[in-house]
Amino acid sequence: MMSIEETISEIKKQIGDGVTLVAVSKTRSISDILKAYSAGQRDFGENKVQEINEKATGLPADIRWHFIGHLQSNKVKNVVPFVHLIHGVDTLKLLTEINKRAEKVNRVVDCLLQIWIADEESKFGLDEKELTDIISGNALTTLKNVNLRGLMGMATNTDDQEKIRSEFRHLNELYKKVSQKLKKADFNLLSMGMTNDYTIAIEEGSNMVRIGSLIFGERDYL
Ligand SMILES: *Cc1c(COP(=O)(O)O)cnc(C)c1O
Repeated sequence: MMSIEETISEIKKQIGDGVTLVAVSKTRSISDILKAYSAGQRDFGENKVQEINEKATGLPADIRWHFIGHLQSNKVKNVVPFVHLIHGVDTLKLLTEINKRAEKVNRVVDCLLQIWIADEESKFGLDEKELTDIISGNALTTLKNVNLRGLMGMATNTDDQEKIRSEFRHLNELYKKVSQKLKKADFNLLSMGMTNDYTIAIEEGSNMVRIGSLIFGERDYL
């Protein structure tokens, strides 16, 4: 089996410079994270507010922390002071709360809108209509302390590669549409692809992949 360090450098070689690797470290130990760090990895993804806080406190300050989970409004204040990118924004209410909390700590927080592309009820995200509503309204210009950087999505958990491909392709089409509409140079992140589907995601236009198990081994729980 390859070490964490070796796996990181293999993945980086494979995905190339144009794709950002977010190492998903949820449930992993500090010592495993430090192994990835020593291989040059700086972007890490977590999905629990308490866990990301505990880890950020004890680990090097140049780590860029990505919040990739479902963020509850009442916990926004606990990630906003230090988070690098929030991937899972799925309501205008949440975006508004992030803006409010970011203003209080004098930050502009980068966010992605999460889009529901899978046919699984369990997954979160905006549908096309909700996305259009957010993009067309004036929220994005009035919320000065959030910066909308792109879209994020998760494909259906299935062995059907063509289904996964078509879901990612659909997300990329939405991403291009929004990008044309916003005409905003830094709307340039498309976060899609995990351990089992990142190769397809990159073929379909992803420039940010979130990979956990491939780097750190199987998890006991999600
Ligand atoms: C856990 C998780 C990942 C990583 O999943 P792996 O299959 O371990 O690569 C990616 N994105 C999100 C949103 C996650 O919750």
